[in-house]
Parts: sequence; structure tokens; C-alpha cells
Amino acid sequence: MTQRTFFDIDDRLLTLAEETESDIRPAFEKIESIAFQNQQKVLAAFIHNHVGENCFTSSTGYGYGDVGREKLEKVFADAMECEDALLRHNFMCGTHALTVALFGVLRPGDTMLCVTGMPYDTIQSVIGLHNPPASGSLKEFGIGFQKIDLLTGGGVDIEKMRRQLRDDASIKMVYIQRSRGYSLRPSLPVEAIGEICAAAHEVKPEVVVMVDNCYGEFVQLTEPCVHGADLMAGSLIKNPGGGIASTGGYIAGRKDLVEMCSYRLSTPGTGREVGCTLGHSREMYMGLFSAPHVVGEALKTAVFAAGLFTRLGYDVTPRPDEPRADIIQSLLLRTPEALIAFCQGIQSGSPVDAQALPEPWDMPGYDSKIIMASGSFTLGSSIELSADAPLREPYAVWMQGALNYAAGKTGVLIAADRLLKQSQKH
Ligand SMILES: *Cc1c(COP(=O)(O)O)cnc(C)c1O
Repeated sequence: MTQRTFFDIDDRLLTLAEETESDIRPAFEKIESIAFQNQQKVLAAFIHNHVGENCFTSSTGYGYGDVGREKLEKVFADAMECEDALLRHNFMCGTHALTVALFGVLRPGDTMLCVTGMPYDTIQSVIGLHNPPASGSLKEFGIGFQKIDLLTGGGVDIEKMRRQLRDDASIKMVYIQRSRGYSLRPSLPVEAIGEICAAAHEVKPEVVVMVDNCYGEFVQLTEPCVHGADLMAGSLIKNPGGGIASTGGYIAGRKDLVEMCSYRLSTPGTGREVGCTLGHSREMYMGLFSAPHVVGEALKTAVFAAGLFTRLGYDVTPRPDEPRADIIQSLLLRTPEALIAFCQGIQSGSPVDAQALPEPWDMPGYDSKIIMASGSFTLGSSIELSADAPLREPYAVWMQGALNYAAGKTGVLIAADRLLKQSQKH
């Protein structure tokens, strides 16, 4: 069958793409098997909780007694296999959900110990790590911060964590970032998170282990709380929103901790009982239902990009056949020009705003100039195909998402083509 083509992509790239797809077939089979099992887990959660048409109605004002909102949180807790959850469109982004969890659980005099090195850029402001510290940061409220750098190779220094937990009575939280963020460290599999939780709870049973679970949901068969984490949080315009939720976030985990967070999300006294849904419930249910499949499509796109760029002679991390605990793919493109060409290519292969030409800019909350490509239905959604590259050493782009593999593969090919044409100009 002759292929119809709609884009001017170099024939050499199309040949490489075919070879890549035959290389990565075993990885695709693993991804499909995980998506199948996670889809069943989510479907079972819908069925056991008797999700019905009545769950999709909209509430206004205080939103008291919103059945759809209450049931959705039970469905989500079941899908995450934990005791309880807050899942709300009122969370403005992932950073907000994480912030509510940190302020919800920590008190003046407490210390948060991050065991995965420096946390994600926006969380640094929340902690108060900048000079001067951001107004309203944890630091202003007398909450301390310590970090333990990752070992070479990306493992967590569990022995150092044990020592610090024994020596410093103020440590009330061990904080883990599952995803790589804008770094080249590996993502942390839930099994490794389990080892950290076991060691932390052995030294100090009451310590709260909290996981920044952004980009990790449904990538593996289980989530961090199954492996001993007490609390986790994430964004609905990433994995668990399935590309359908148009805003929101979640906090999930131990019942008592989720309740404490609810008093920070709304107010002491009202907690989870308030919060109208304004018509968001149906898309949040639909997004959660689609999430295992969409995460699988995003993973396939990441693996395809890893395979294609390996064949093009670039270093990539993770490699196509490496195990993954998040949906992010880094490609080391080596020059600022290459980063810009790649991101502009991703943008030009997007369904929305393809004509826009992204340029590097100073984004609030981030340290260096960043170029971002995101031609998405939801502004800033990174479960949709998107790419970000801080213009700093080692000139790597971090790409993620794709609502379906066919579109993801096309976007990656268009970006690779632009990169090729850019390099031929010089
Ligand atoms: C996306 C992300 C966050 C939250 O970022 P938002 O842009 O506020 O949603 C936090 N941590 C990690 C690792 C992330 O990937």
C-alpha cells in the first residue's frame, strides 16, 4: 500500500522511523500490557463505586453535597489504591496541589527532607530557596528544608537519609520526586520508592513520606502509596487527566493526611465539604477513565523519539529499552540552535497554534530562559505532545505527551525534519 503523505518529511527520516519501530516492538508490548492492566483497575473502580449519569451534574456556590465530586474522589483513591483523595478542578496546577499538601501537613519548626536532590524548579520557590525567599514560602512560616543529593547513577542515598532522620528530630517529612523534571537523573520506579519508605519508617515510624508523583501516574502497574508512601500529589493536565480534564490536581494517600490537606485547600472547619464543580465533573471522570490508555500512547511516543534520535546519533535518556517511571524523554541535542529548531518543529506539528513560532523566554518560577512548544487544546497541558528546553548546559530538550501515538510519531518526525534542515543550513 502506498503511503499518502501530508508533510514534507525527508525520506531518510521515514526509513529510519520504520527501522526504529521494528527495534522498539518489545517496549511497545510492555507498554500495552501495563495500559491493559491499569485500564482494568480504573474500570473496576468506576464499576465498584457505581458511577452513574447523576455524577456528572454541576454544582454552584458552596457545592455542598455534590455527589459527583465525592464519588470521583473515591474512584480516584481506588485507582491509586490508597485510602483517600482530593481531586479538584480548584487546584490551579501541579505546583498548587503539592503546595497545599506541604502546607497542609508541615507546621512551624518542622523540617522537610528531600532525598532526590534539588526539587523541581517551581517547588524551590515554595520552599523559599531563592534569595530573597518568595513571599509566602514555607521558610517564612518557619519550616526548614534539607536535601540529600542523588548518588552517581541516580540512586537515593538511603544510609545518609537514615542518619539524618536519627540525628534531626525536626524532620517530619521525607520528600521524593518521582519524575526527572528538568534534569538528566533517571525517574524513580515505585519499587525504589518502596525501599525509601521502608527505611524511613523503620527509623522514624511517624515520618510522612510524600511523593511528587507528577508524570508518574499509570506508567507502572502500581502507584507510590502501594509501596508505603503516605501522601502524593500531581496535576490533572498531566497523566491522570487523560488529556480531557481542562485544569485541576490531586492529593492522595493516608486518610488523616488527606483531611489535613483539605483544611488548607479550603478552610479550617469546612475542609472537603465545600467546592462547587461548575460543570467540570464529567470531563474529570472521562479524563481519569482515558488516562491509562493516553499514558500508554505518550510512552510509545517517548520510546519512538528515543529510538529515532538514537539512530540519528544523539544521546538520549532514558534509552528506548530502559524501564520508565515517568513519561518524559530527554534528547541531548547539544546546541541552542538545535533545541530551538526541535521545539519549533514540535510546535509546527501540533493541532493547535501550529503557526506560532516559540522563542526562548524568562518564565516565572524558572531560573534560566526556556523555550516551550505546546500546541495543545488545554493551555500548558503536557500530557499533550509538548517539549521544553531550558537554554543551559547540556542543551537537552525534555519532551512528553501525545494524546495518541500516530499524532505523537508525526510530531516527532516533523521536529526531527526541522532539526535536519536547520543543521544542513550550516
Ligand atoms: C509538572 C511538575 C510539577 C508541577 O508543575 P505545574 O506546572 O505547576 O503543574 C511539579 N513537579 C514535577 C516533577 C513536575 O513535572
